[in-house]
Amino acid sequence: MISVAIDGPAGAGKSTIAKEVAKKLGWIYIDTGAMYRVVAFYCIENNIDLNNEIKVTEEMENICINLSQINEVQHIFLNERDVTDEIRTAKISNGASLVATYSAVREKLVSLQRILAKRENVIMDGRDIGTVVLPNAELKIFLTASSCERANRRFKEQMQKGIEQPYAEVLEEINKRDELDYKREVSPLKKADDAIEIDTTGYPSNMVVDLVLKKLNEIDKSSK
Ligand code: C5P
Repeated sequence: MISVAIDGPAGAGKSTIAKEVAKKLGWIYIDTGAMYRVVAFYCIENNIDLNNEIKVTEEMENICINLSQINEVQHIFLNERDVTDEIRTAKISNGASLVATYSAVREKLVSLQRILAKRENVIMDGRDIGTVVLPNAELKIFLTASSCERANRRFKEQMQKGIEQPYAEVLEEINKRDELDYKREVSPLKKADDAIEIDTTGYPSNMVVDLVLKKLNEIDKSSK
C-alpha cells in the first residue's frame, strides 16, 4: 500500500489538492479533519461541554465514525447517520480544534486513520499525518499559505455556499485555530522532517496537484 500525507494549517488547500490527486490516481482520499469535526458535532448536539475534557473523553465510546465514497465524494457517518454537510459550519470548525487538543480523542481517531490506510492506497490530509499517523508515508507534503490568503479562500468558499461571514471574522477564526493547532501539547501541527514544504500563496491548485503527482512519479520510478 502507498500512503501520501498532506499536512498544514486551515485553509492551506489540503483537501482541494488531496481530493484532486486521489481522483487522478483512483486512490482513496481520507479527510481526518472531518473526524474531529464529527466529535465536535456529536458533543454540541448532545449538549456536552466541549471545554470539559473528561466528559468529552467519556463520550468517545458512544461515537462511531465511518467513511464511505458515494459518487466520488467522501461521506462521513456518525453512528450511521450521514453528517457530511452538517459538520461544515464555523461553530463546528472551532469546536473541532478544541476537542483535537484532547489526547483520548486523538488516540481513538488516529487508530481509525491507521486502519483505513492499511486497506488501500490513500491520500490523507490533516495536521499530524506525516508526524504521527503515518510516519512511514511514501510521500509527505506540508502545505502553507499566508493567513490572509487562507482567510480569503475560506471567505470565498463561504460566499459560494451562501454563508455571509465578515472577512475580518474569518481571519480571526483562522488565526485562533492556528494558535490551537500549532501550540497544543499533543501532536501539534508541525512539518515532518522529511516532508516537502509548499507555500501555496498565489499558486493555482492545479500547479500544486501536478507537483505532487510528479513527486509520486519519481518515487515510483526509484522504487523499480
Ligand atoms: O481540516 P479541518 O479544518 O476540517 O480540521 C478541523 C480541526 O481538526 C482542525 O482545526 C484541527 O484542530 C483538527 N485536526 C487535527 N488533526 C488532524 C485533522 C484535523 O487536530 N489530523
